[in-house]
Amino acid sequence: MDDRQALADERDRARALSTAELADAIEAIGFSCTRCGACCTAHDDGEDHTATVFPEEVRTLQETTEDSWNDVARPMPYGVSETGGETFEWALQTTGCGDCAFYTEDADGTGGCTVHEDRPLICQTYPFSLALSGTSQPLGEPVDSDGLLRAHDCEGLGRSIDRDKALDLAATLKERAITELTEAIELLERYERADPPDGSVVVHDSEGAKRPDGSKI
Ligand code: SF4
Repeated sequence: MDDRQALADERDRARALSTAELADAIEAIGFSCTRCGACCTAHDDGEDHTATVFPEEVRTLQETTEDSWNDVARPMPYGVSETGGETFEWALQTTGCGDCAFYTEDADGTGGCTVHEDRPLICQTYPFSLALSGTSQPLGEPVDSDGLLRAHDCEGLGRSIDRDKALDLAATLKERAITELTEAIELLERYERADPPDGSVVVHDSEGAKRPDGSKI
């Protein structure tokens, strides 16, 4: 079975998931965002915040902010060195201190998101993810009996969540898994190994090979 077929099978599995059962598991563990900002800022070890954002999501954020592609997204850093290289997908752009470019903080330390209504699927579903092959981090510990629903370490876990919110979160988790797998399938279909000259970066996504400013090569 080739990689694309394996991903397509995994996408079928994601489509068949019961939203109600996922919501049961989310309700059982409980979650409410405390606005601590931990999922939007640089990591404790000094690594920049790195969250996947897909081309359509970049364009949505561009429309909202009227910013350039570069202001919204940067090449996923894995595989890229000081001398350039090729990489897969995009990460939300960061500030000089490594926080997400859209993170804001009140004087009392309460975190916020300046693009909350249009934030990417990975942000909408944090700290949860589904352990399906071909989907992205963060994964974290299993929190259901099948080991499919994962929860990343987060201080908002364990707080009560009402049924409607749990159902919304479950539906968005499914949508995210299906989107990630569709992106991965389309990326594989279009991928052709690039050999970027020194100092340049090529980003492969579901729409083909691109420059770091999002323009197609
Ligand atoms: S887009 Fe918003 S929710 Fe997502 S990491 Fe940035 S500040 Fe946080």
